[in-house]
Amino acid sequence: MTARLEIDLGAIADNWRYLAGLSKGETAAVVKADSYGLGAAQVAPVLAQAGCKTFFTAHLAEAVALRPLVPQARILVLNGLAPHAAAEFIAHDLTPALVSLQDLSVWRAAAARLERKLAAVLHLETGMNRLALGKRELAALHEDRTQLDGVAVEMVMTHLLAADAPEDARNQRQLQDFLAMAARFPGAKRSIANSPGIFLGADFHLDLTRPGAALYGLNPSPAQPHRMRPVVRLSAPILQIRDIQRGETVGYGASWTALRPSQIATIGVGYADGLHRTLSNRGTAYFDDTPVPLVGRVSMDLAIFDVTDVPANPGDPLVLLDARRGADELADAAGTIGYEILTSLGRRYQRRYINA
Ligand SMILES: *Cc1c(COP(=O)(O)O)cnc(C)c1O
Repeated sequence: MTARLEIDLGAIADNWRYLAGLSKGETAAVVKADSYGLGAAQVAPVLAQAGCKTFFTAHLAEAVALRPLVPQARILVLNGLAPHAAAEFIAHDLTPALVSLQDLSVWRAAAARLERKLAAVLHLETGMNRLALGKRELAALHEDRTQLDGVAVEMVMTHLLAADAPEDARNQRQLQDFLAMAARFPGAKRSIANSPGIFLGADFHLDLTRPGAALYGLNPSPAQPHRMRPVVRLSAPILQIRDIQRGETVGYGASWTALRPSQIATIGVGYADGLHRTLSNRGTAYFDDTPVPLVGRVSMDLAIFDVTDVPANPGDPLVLLDARRGADELADAAGTIGYEILTSLGRRYQRRYINA
């Protein structure tokens, strides 16, 4: 009896269509980290079918794996261009987001070798200070435009650092800085918005938006009502129920003690499956419509719930994620974000894709 993870591909497509309907520009899809743990091989073709023409991965290897699944699409690789990777990019028709002058020179050299123009995206730094071309590098570039020889800058992009905080003045500042930088690349498309960025307003949509989280049912605008369709349902059958006495303890370290005679149910999901250990004595699951508390420490492969107040039997399912309580809510209890809940969903679930 294994836990079951159900992933609603129709809901992901609906979420993409909803976001695509919000802006006049293009709507891409971010499918890095295996579509946030949900399976890029299943998700990407469904999104392509829905009309998505541009996909973002983080790694080159993710993009290579994606290529045969979305043969017509543009695939952009966010993590830059390693010194010896150009040939592989070209062989699989992938476009790098160039994040340094070094990346640019590698791409320029490849273009010279091939004697044709190569498309690229420039990722510009406006505040994340993570992986992008900074102001100084841009100045050097404008000083010597031959560094762009052979490189067709199709798009410039930047990334918001606080898009989930609409009141944060840095959003506007980044947008203005970005527009000023982008003006130096006439003809290039401009992209700034991730999922929460889309909900900062039409000014942020520009030519292309890059949602990830919202496609997978996470709430892109925590200050507003949740408008994305839920995507995942995770349930696990009870493997065993034990009757324990008042005063007995449960799990490693005896971190929970029964204050009354209790019925204790164990499921075969642990931190190795993405049930974060920080949910120890904090998480809940649903038995039918009733939340039941996770008691004791989460083990690697098992977790324990107090089912004293519900008529549970071995084999009955406990529901960890569904429409009522999604990854965002589980994340709150775990002290993390929904993104991390999704990307740590384990490989041992029986996965079922529905509504393809
Ligand atoms: C991950 C990522 C996105 C998608 O962000 P979401 O918040 O999941 O929508 C967009 N752009 C860049 C550069 C990213 O790294």
